[in-house]
Amino acid sequence: MPALHASHGGNWLRPANGVTGAVSKGEAIMAAADTPVLLLNAPLVANRLGYPDLSGLDLLELFAFVHPARFCVPTPRGLAQALGIAAPADDNAVPEFLQDAAGALLAACEDREWFERAGAWASLQSLERLRWPWAQVLRPHVARPERAEKWLFATLPEWEETAERPAPRQVELPPTDVLEQLDDLTGEGAEKREGQRAFASEAARIFAPRSAQDVPHLALAQAGTGIGKTLGYLAPASLWARASGGTVWVSTFTKNLQRQLRAESRRAWPVKRPDGTPPVVVRKGRENYLCLLNLEDALQGGFAGRPAVLAHLVARWAAFTRDGDMIGGDLPGWLGTLFRKRGIAALTDQRGECVYAGCPHYRKCFIERAQRDSAQADLVIANHALVMVNAARAGIGGRDQGQRLTRVIFDEGHHVFEAADSTFAATLSGQEAIELRRWIIGPERKNRGRRRGLSARLADIASYDDEGGAAIEDACEAGTLLPSDGWLQRLVENEPAGPIEALLAAVRTVTYARDESGQEAGYGIETETAGLPGEVIEAAGRAAEALAAIRTPLIRLGGRLEAIVADPPDWLDAQGRARIEGARHALGWRVDLIAAWESLLARLGGPADPEFVDWLAVDRSDAREFDVAIHRRWLDPMKPFAKAVLEPAHGVMLTSATLTDRINAESGDKWDSAIARSGAAHVEAEPIMTEAHSPFDYASNAEVLIVTDVKRGDLPGLAGAYARLIEASGGGVLGLFTAIRRLRAVHGRVADRLAREGLPLFAQHVDPIDTGTLVDIFRDDPRASLLGTDALRDGVDVPGHSLRCVVMEAVPWPRPDILHKARRLAAAANGGSASQYDDRIIRARLAQAFGRLIRNRDDRGHFVVLSAAFPSRLLSAFPEGTSVRRVTLDEAIARIEGGLIGEDPARLDQAGEEAGGNVGAQVPDNGP
Ligand code: SF4
Repeated sequence: MPALHASHGGNWLRPANGVTGAVSKGEAIMAAADTPVLLLNAPLVANRLGYPDLSGLDLLELFAFVHPARFCVPTPRGLAQALGIAAPADDNAVPEFLQDAAGALLAACEDREWFERAGAWASLQSLERLRWPWAQVLRPHVARPERAEKWLFATLPEWEETAERPAPRQVELPPTDVLEQLDDLTGEGAEKREGQRAFASEAARIFAPRSAQDVPHLALAQAGTGIGKTLGYLAPASLWARASGGTVWVSTFTKNLQRQLRAESRRAWPVKRPDGTPPVVVRKGRENYLCLLNLEDALQGGFAGRPAVLAHLVARWAAFTRDGDMIGGDLPGWLGTLFRKRGIAALTDQRGECVYAGCPHYRKCFIERAQRDSAQADLVIANHALVMVNAARAGIGGRDQGQRLTRVIFDEGHHVFEAADSTFAATLSGQEAIELRRWIIGPERKNRGRRRGLSARLADIASYDDEGGAAIEDACEAGTLLPSDGWLQRLVENEPAGPIEALLAAVRTVTYARDESGQEAGYGIETETAGLPGEVIEAAGRAAEALAAIRTPLIRLGGRLEAIVADPPDWLDAQGRARIEGARHALGWRVDLIAAWESLLARLGGPADPEFVDWLAVDRSDAREFDVAIHRRWLDPMKPFAKAVLEPAHGVMLTSATLTDRINAESGDKWDSAIARSGAAHVEAEPIMTEAHSPFDYASNAEVLIVTDVKRGDLPGLAGAYARLIEASGGGVLGLFTAIRRLRAVHGRVADRLAREGLPLFAQHVDPIDTGTLVDIFRDDPRASLLGTDALRDGVDVPGHSLRCVVMEAVPWPRPDILHKARRLAAAANGGSASQYDDRIIRARLAQAFGRLIRNRDDRGHFVVLSAAFPSRLLSAFPEGTSVRRVTLDEAIARIEGGLIGEDPARLDQAGEEAGGNVGAQVPDNGP
């Protein structure tokens, strides 16, 4: 088969039996239209060719069929690694490589030892009916099994119901035992690291028995990069779990750290206990997992065309997955993007429509399994959002109620504040409201798969219990007051239907009317809730009445369900009971949600509540409006966090390499912000504060270059600077931007030029690839560079040579939005100053970005900020000893090219002469 490769450096085509040659974009598109060509990552190739309709035989789809649940970086080099064949030397060699790789994958299907053979033949039959282009190619290579195979849903294992774990025993951990356990985990002969030992001893203190109700042991641990904090806390955690029979939750912000924790936990726990249960479980929100009922629906005609092909490839994966986690688990992150639709999301339980025990797959359900496994686990690895949502909902009949979070370690603890901020927020928006409508009434159009409203989900209750049935009917009728399909268009045309749409239309009008931001179309706009016109207030009143009309029957229904569980009818078996419990839980948090909306509306037009910040917003992206909302945030979200998470817990630790503020000693206490952002002020507990310094030699291995001659707003200059820095470093650059618009402009100007030099450039918001996969690609190719925004500033863990230079386009000032301004004012009113508040945020961002550079002892590199006026007071953001220079772009390039770091006068002079500049001079630190 012919093969096509397109990069920013050009396009290469290899005919079926010919020689590879460079072709124009037009020729490449024509070739692909003529006959199916082999491609790697069709959406990316289409993007490079500027031809969105491109299709062909995508090797990634073939890989997903042949080796589901196997990791593969979606590049020629990554595919070569995954298949154990030679990688192509350059772009010109890629088409031939694609032909070889296709051959290797087809050959794998003929191998008697093909690990993923089960179910392949049957799956191929369905894919052939769907006209999946690979099906015909694969057919001669996939043998029909001798005996008919069971279908997926019959082969998945069932989970077992187990007794609730008893409450943990109260135990004390002797300090010597903790250190011995740490020695065991680090392994024989490992160097004894004093920082790590001290950290482990301090972490052990949160496991001591609590001495007063609502007063947990609270530890704040600043742990410099490289001290080995993961094993530092796993040592006391594993010891305590063994001695007490309790469960420790470790909460992270990034999936990366979850992966690392899973690997490190193997030192303390086996994969399985003798009874087959896992002692360590990764828990995510339910919207991350495959819903088997949705999958069955998709396989049986709920999906058509390309989404149906995706469903079959997901079904292949479902038979081999470790835990059914579709987002960040063992389903390749790139699979969803190959299909361009929201297919993956439609296969998860996004809207809480689970029918629990009413589902035929309930006993095999991945979500139910994860929930049960975590209730029996010694260690649960979760994320901040899930921990907080679980804690917040535990008070309203949460399903995890039996599993109280008594010992919690928040790693990447500097993100706890942001996670609490969004968890405890209230947002009444068009998108949220239509979701509620669909949950109550069901979808409006018939073709929405198995989604059903309340009346279908609880049909048996309605027929058994008259009052329950009436409540369901009333809720469905009141639910019609919520926005319906086409609401946004009606708002734009000023023809809203129903009281909530009318309110949102009024909100939209006033937000536009007051907009003074001068934001170009395409960016979100917002306005305060002060001084709203009468129409908005009146519309809010009518909307609040409508919400109350919806909430009342839902409460009644909840009461009926409770009564049925308390006095169960004969026909209600254990599974039916579980389903009703599930429905009660779902009702409970929706009633709370509606109540939060009502209280939000009640405040509009009244005096502002000093505890909260409210505002109106129109969300826009790429010149398209997508939501209209009324927002409410806590001024200090650590207040509800303290109530929901800290008070019920017995021991909590927040740890991070950037927990404390790198403030100048004379300007204040570095612990102030860590304490304020931990919630410590809202509980009685006296926090235990501990600090372990990084063992890395930053002075010799890292250097900060502040480039002073790239003017702000000069886009060509910015793009040129990025290109030259990437060339100087030979790739390996992580470019961080504060605005997507500038990121795209820079990428558009320099990607082709760099590709021609063999320096691939990838970018978030440009390449049709998910962020996790972009980082995998970057990690895998030392000549690649990656541009991105906030998510990359915090979430990239690329130790080694692949990341050797970080370039920030500017000082990362916080966006002066309404919420930020309110918190800034509050900080000033509390004795600080508004600019100190901003400085702390910037220092934290700089410290986090700098933290990407040096991940292990041997890492070396430059940290570049393009800023003509970098304030000196922010320099303390960088680790002590790191050399900081204010330089011109030419000087920076000379230092990067020469690999010059820190004080090295002889080499500096030499490089300065070569570069024709005064590289050796330490430019005075005279910033504002
Ligand atoms: S139990 Fe719920 S989440 Fe699980 S497969 Fe069934 S419907 Fe989906």
